[in-house]
Amino acid sequence: AKNRGRNRAVKFSEEMNKEARMQLWLEIELQKALQNNGLEVWYQPKVHARDFSINGAEALVRWNHPVEGYISPAQFIPVAERSGLIEQLGQVVMREVFTTVRYWKTQGLLPGKVAINLSPQQFGNPNLIQFVDKLRKATGVNPNDITFELTESAVMSDGEHTIQMLNAIKKLGFSLSIDDFGTGYSSLSYLARFPLDELKIDRAFIKDIEEIPKQLTLIENIINLGKSLNMSVVAEGVETRQQATLLSNLDCHAIQGFHFYKPLPKNELEATLHKHNHH
Ligand code: C2E
Ligand code: CA
Ligand code: CA
Ligand code: CA
Repeated sequence: AKNRGRNRAVKFSEEMNKEARMQLWLEIELQKALQNNGLEVWYQPKVHARDFSINGAEALVRWNHPVEGYISPAQFIPVAERSGLIEQLGQVVMREVFTTVRYWKTQGLLPGKVAINLSPQQFGNPNLIQFVDKLRKATGVNPNDITFELTESAVMSDGEHTIQMLNAIKKLGFSLSIDDFGTGYSSLSYLARFPLDELKIDRAFIKDIEEIPKQLTLIENIINLGKSLNMSVVAEGVETRQQATLLSNLDCHAIQGFHFYKPLPKNELEATLHKHNHH
């Protein structure tokens, strides 16, 4: 038995090592990718809940590793956040999106507002405001065409800082969205205090609306809550036609999910929009 315990301990520390080595590998490779322009930005369209026409898009970072192929953001974003690389990654994404949005605008291709995800670490850094302002001027983008998505945990960390940051972003003309709504286990009071334009209901609420009737009631009330606070409400992670129909009947504003569109490379989205515009 003693021996088995020791084996287990050895096995456990091997697992730990494996995990730690993986994290370190990801960090080193991500650093290279940042140096070599190895990151891409893809876009997932959202649609109007009424007629399912495109009404915006969310920018999502993609990493095509030269040997491993595409690595999921769920794997490397946390590594970027812990290592501090998120700062540089975020700047790469913002530069790419601002430039693209400006280009789409001149081509008459803009699908509506384009959303950029901000990690708590990015939001926590006051330099963000100056960076965004400079980038706005450099690219000539209209801030009205861009939304920043923040999670509840990002806005709940520090009240005074949050208010100042959110007001500064709004003052520049950008929109603000609360991402993964309902998963942060935070109090709802921030909804009234912060200048938020949009609320995105997390996929966790959507995925079993067909099986759990109360889930639908819950969503209906979240939609009403958002509306009563003058926020537009988006349902995320919609994968089936039944879900889309239910949400459309509940009168939420927009829907996002694989049922309509997966995240697309820039050129594929452009092709989709060309077709879309000719209908
Ligand atoms: P998120 O902001 O909640 O983004 C939505 C995620 O759900 C995306 O995963 C998207 O591909 C996925 N998704 C969309 N529709 C569906 C659906 O119908 N079903 C399912 N199962 N999934 C759906 P992705 O691209 O892997 O990104 C994961 C997370 O990584 C994002 O979650 C976001 O937190 C983070 N992330 C992605 N890009 C960026 C970025 O540029 N900057 C920062 N800071 N974080 C990012
Ligand atoms: Ca998001
Ligand atoms: Ca989300
Ligand atoms: Ca998320």
